[in-house]
Amino acid sequence: MQVVWFKRDLRISDHRPLFEAALRDGPVVPLFIVEEEILQAPDSSALHWDFQRAALHDLDRQLRALGAPLIIRQGEAVAVLEEIRRDHGIAHLWAHEETGNGITYARDRRVRRWARDSGVPFTEFPQNGVVRRLKSRDGWSQLWEKRMAEGVTPTPVYLPPHGLATVALEPAAAARATRRDAQETLESFLAGRGLRYTREMSSPVSAEMSCSRLSEYLAWGLCSMREVVQQTRHRAARLASEAAPEAKLWRQSLRSFDARLHWHCHFMQKLEDEPRIEFENMVRAYDGLREGEFCRERFEAWKQGRTGFPFIDACMRYLVANGWINFRMRAMLVSFASYDLWLHWREPALYLAQLFRDYEPGIHYSQFQMQSGTTGINTLRMYNPTKQGIDQDPDGSFIRRWVPELAGEPEVHQPRRPTVDHVAAVAYARKRLGEIRRLDSSRTEARSVAQRHGSRKRTPGRRPRTTPPAEQGTLFGD
Ligand SMILES: Cc1cc2nc3c(=O)[nH]c(=O)nc-3n(C[C@H](O)[C@H](O)[C@H](O)COP(=O)(O)OP(=O)(O)OC[C@H]3O[C@@H](n4cnc5c(N)ncnc54)[C@H](O)[C@@H]3O)c2cc1C
Repeated sequence: MQVVWFKRDLRISDHRPLFEAALRDGPVVPLFIVEEEILQAPDSSALHWDFQRAALHDLDRQLRALGAPLIIRQGEAVAVLEEIRRDHGIAHLWAHEETGNGITYARDRRVRRWARDSGVPFTEFPQNGVVRRLKSRDGWSQLWEKRMAEGVTPTPVYLPPHGLATVALEPAAAARATRRDAQETLESFLAGRGLRYTREMSSPVSAEMSCSRLSEYLAWGLCSMREVVQQTRHRAARLASEAAPEAKLWRQSLRSFDARLHWHCHFMQKLEDEPRIEFENMVRAYDGLREGEFCRERFEAWKQGRTGFPFIDACMRYLVANGWINFRMRAMLVSFASYDLWLHWREPALYLAQLFRDYEPGIHYSQFQMQSGTTGINTLRMYNPTKQGIDQDPDGSFIRRWVPELAGEPEVHQPRRPTVDHVAAVAYARKRLGEIRRLDSSRTEARSVAQRHGSRKRTPGRRPRTTPPAEQGTLFGD
């Protein structure tokens, strides 16, 4: 019996573990384990589980069509696998590598140990550009390119049935959580919505339509990174021969989009290489900087969108309602929590992890550390929330919609009974962070962070340009 263990890879196409299992003798058991430890974790939420459940129902439908329904089991992974081994035997266990949080990291180690001890061959394949046991960041971009250029793994046409029992999975409320939705989202972006991507990604008003909105599909693996990269490049290649008036705009947008697909793995690689950054400052010299001054009242005001800064509050309330917000607004919310409210990043990170339907630990913690100034290698980016509101929501319609108590006001951008004085707060933050940044010990650590995690410049003239700008001293993201 070949067991294929599905985790954050809820698809049948470009799925190497499933493909390899189907080539071997014997029934194929597609397995998903519902793990209480993950569901109860402080970075998990009903939003994630609902999306996953909807995707699992769809995955089961696709697998049934091939001959082998999805088996859902509940429990600790090793216990579940051992039970299947004992009752049915496992000739081979197949899975994708996962760059997850501390819980899934420890779980994967336990499963590897169990497989070794019980003599079950266990093979894991990479599923994006993240490289396991990476020795050095030199040449990483080339490795990423190589992986993305490899052929998409064919979908098996038949899976020998297994006859194993499954537990029923409750229905899910999540809309748009199927493979078809992932494909339509990519197609509509590449065929039309993405035209003004570069210009419209920064405002939450235009980003909703003009950004790809692929993040949740990538995070839960409804499509593979390689599929997205290849379809994007296919579209770019077709454009190269088109003389349409919009071709130039398209080329610009697709270049920016392609770069962000690369960044997806670039950020995840940081957590893969250093799992501790989920919990600890990347540069330890920042330890103790904010922890002792954590103000619960401020944190609650930020969480509820009641800081008195209309644009911050509108963005937070929009995020709570939609499970998504664009990059710049995520960065601004974190900047506000970290600099204006002087909150250590860990609790805000857990809160936003729960709110993001696309929660991807590798991107999340790396971005959080970057936006709160603890990486030692990135320019401090302190957003002025009032200016952002004026720039990104000039007529105030977004603020009026999401902060309805201001709906009748003629002017909505200026703070109303603000929790803090922005100018004084960022001056304080800059001073405190600067003091640490200038320490010899912090500089030494920052150099090793740059060596370990910093992006490397690409050969000039090579396309696509994927060197993350912030790591050269400017804004990283949009
Ligand atoms: C504090 C903070 C936390 C974040 N947490 C997450 C997270 O948990 N999961 C997540 O997928 N993204 C996260 N991001 C990155 C980014 O905001 C989202 O990927 C993006 O907003 C998703 O919308 P989209 O799919 O329409 O993006 P698009 O702009 O259409 O980009 C396409 C894809 O590229 C990747 N991408 C885009 N921007 C970035 C970036 N700056 N860094 C890394 N990858 C990027 C994503 O996979 C995204 O789906 C975070 C950003 C910040 C500032």
